[in-house]
Amino acid sequence: MIDLRSDTVTKPTEAMRRAAFEAEVGDDVYVEDPTINLLEQKAAEMLGKEAALFVTSGTQGNQIAVLTHCQRGQEVIMEQDAHIYYYEGAAMSAFAGIQPRTLKGHRGAMNPTEVKAAIRPEDIHFPETGLICLENTHNRAGGAIVSLENMQEIYTIANEHHVPVHLDGARLFNTVVASSVSVKEYAAQTDSIQICLSKGLGAPVGSIIAGTESFIARARKWRKRLGGGLRQAGIIAAPGLLALTEMVDRLEEDHRHAQKLADGFAQIPSLKIENIVETNIVLVNVEGTGHDANQFLQELKNEGILAVGFGPHTVRFTTHYDVNGSQIDVVIERVGELCASKL
Ligand SMILES: *Cc1c(COP(=O)(O)O)cnc(C)c1O
Repeated sequence: MIDLRSDTVTKPTEAMRRAAFEAEVGDDVYVEDPTINLLEQKAAEMLGKEAALFVTSGTQGNQIAVLTHCQRGQEVIMEQDAHIYYYEGAAMSAFAGIQPRTLKGHRGAMNPTEVKAAIRPEDIHFPETGLICLENTHNRAGGAIVSLENMQEIYTIANEHHVPVHLDGARLFNTVVASSVSVKEYAAQTDSIQICLSKGLGAPVGSIIAGTESFIARARKWRKRLGGGLRQAGIIAAPGLLALTEMVDRLEEDHRHAQKLADGFAQIPSLKIENIVETNIVLVNVEGTGHDANQFLQELKNEGILAVGFGPHTVRFTTHYDVNGSQIDVVIERVGELCASKL
């Protein structure tokens, strides 16, 4: 099977497995796991934040950020297709007791003027705006890069209104590699940030959240409340360290593969590429084949290719380091044959 469902399907590298085996460990609830401490220090330094915290998943990291920033009965502003709204089981309402306020973005980016207008003034009828959430790259917008300028404008407005900003940077390093902007510059436009180690960076488990010392101290308590306090977690932090130090630059290869895939699919008359491919995600509209996404995915599977549905007629392909260039060629060829014959 050539698995292009997600960059989460990457298996840990041999070096990661060796690092896990050899990791020095301690009890992380006592903050005594040296490998976890090292990973958190390294992540904070890379992101230019005072402190960082290892969490079990991106979802847990985002939700800890909401719980730490917000009070019950507040409102959180986010893009209407943001992962934190679309794919996290309404966790922020279920756990933090907040009300989401969604704005329609353009290729994943909210309009700063609309963000400003959505911040609530003091009024006995209104919830207070507790947080603004951004996402970069934006998953449902097809791995779209949200520009530094857009983030700067929103952060300035947020600061003027004393509202914190959280960045869901599950794939922030894809943004960094595809743009000429450093990770620190993006991170500087936020109060807190979440990055996934377990997607394109290839670690088996985990995410990082980062922010001020005081934010992370409070976040650590929320992590414990949610059952995310781990013990000898150095075993999983060791691969995470390699994810940060060895796996970032090679994301460029995933982006080249996604572009190649999009160029190949663009030659197939019944397919339409829906997104501008900037990173490792290609959204393909299959309506022209006369099939819906589910039927198309079944046909693909019969050809040994896996992708995921992203809408009634939209299929998402995500490139990652476990799929190489010749496999990308095979995918283009087989999809071309499939569309020319059966579909
Ligand atoms: C994957 C993803 C998450 C959640 O990460 P998990 O580790 O799967 O919980 C959050 N935000 C975005 C944008 C993602 O792509």
